[in-house]
Amino acid sequence: MLEVAEALAAVIAHARPRRAETVALSPVVLGRVLAANAAADRDAPPFDKSLRDGYAVRSADCAGGAELRVIEEVPAGSLPTKAVGAGECTRLFTGAPIPAGADAVVMQEDTQPLDGGRVRITDKAVKPGQWVFPRGREMRAGDVVLPAGTVLNPAAVGVLAGLGAAEVPAFPWPRVAVLATGNELVPHAEEPGPGQIRNSNGPMLVSLAVRAGAAVHDLGIARDTAGELRARIEAGLDRTDVLILAGGVSVGKFDLVPGVLEELGVAPHVRQVRMKPGKPMFFGTRGETLVFGLPGNPVSAFVCFELFVRPALRVLAGHAEPGPRTATLPLAEAVAEVNDRPTYRPAKLEPAEVGWAVRPLPWAGAPDLRGLQPADALLVLPAGESRLDPGMPVSVVLLN
Ligand code: AMP
Ligand code: MG
Repeated sequence: MLEVAEALAAVIAHARPRRAETVALSPVVLGRVLAANAAADRDAPPFDKSLRDGYAVRSADCAGGAELRVIEEVPAGSLPTKAVGAGECTRLFTGAPIPAGADAVVMQEDTQPLDGGRVRITDKAVKPGQWVFPRGREMRAGDVVLPAGTVLNPAAVGVLAGLGAAEVPAFPWPRVAVLATGNELVPHAEEPGPGQIRNSNGPMLVSLAVRAGAAVHDLGIARDTAGELRARIEAGLDRTDVLILAGGVSVGKFDLVPGVLEELGVAPHVRQVRMKPGKPMFFGTRGETLVFGLPGNPVSAFVCFELFVRPALRVLAGHAEPGPRTATLPLAEAVAEVNDRPTYRPAKLEPAEVGWAVRPLPWAGAPDLRGLQPADALLVLPAGESRLDPGMPVSVVLLN
């Protein structure tokens, strides 16, 4: 039986980023990871530009106020044609290039128009460079502006657009297939007969994988027979990067999943993990395909997804940091319990006097998905006795 950290290390050791592809710059790149450095093809801004509507001046002309002759008007998108000489200025607008000779902009609010094409400067302390955004201040031609590995957020899309990137090299989302197993399961929209229950894990795991960015294929439900499992698993294995099975991985007579997987050439790397919920957790590989056999209890399946599957999906999607993301936070209420294994308990973050605190949720154990539902964290308790007072620091795994 492996510790959680050992099992995670085994998963990560077998996960590789998918081969990068080129995609048109559009919102479909959101959340994906940039696969190559993106560099500036020119300076930005490409010229000294005005940050205000106003007048380009020689700052030395304006000490204590001045009256200047307006020699031309330059809107954004146009070029000045005249250099600003002594006693002169150019009217310009936000984004317009600064004309030669000028070294500052006086904003319109600090001026008064006069007759005869003249303007009074009422700003008595014009500083060189004021309201000028100098050429190359944001980036220089050749600068690596977004390094490979950058997660593409909306600002990155804007930056790439500014670089003129029509296409973006990015890692594809992983392809995931989900198969629920169990003789007792009926599809969620059907009426369960005696002894039957609805399939919660399938839709939940599909949703977890979708939330992690994956392109997901729902393989439905397989009965607990070697033949049906073999057929469904084989159908799933070939066209996916990650196959997630739920149920049938424990030691019961009908827990056939690990045996069938090995028959199909899946090399096992993890069979059991010292954790609660979720001790029976299978992880194996066939070629590049990662195969997870999660326990059937819905909360066990959820916790194993967050601790092992999501980090693998992040690596496949090109992330340098697989997670899971953890934090140390004060407890919002006392905890007193004894656990035979390290325990991951549904919990909720709440604002505290300073920062955040974590409150364990009422929870009836591995089958209690309803109890887990509001959770945005898992409170991590070590094996043995935990007697913790409010305010004591505890470790949490962050969900979402
Ligand atoms: P197993 O890991 O197959 O032994 O299942 C453990 C428990 O989880 C059993 O009580 C199952 O009925 C339940 N279970 C298994 N699969 C599902 C599922 N897809 N949805 C809801 N409960 C399930
Ligand atoms: Mg079962």
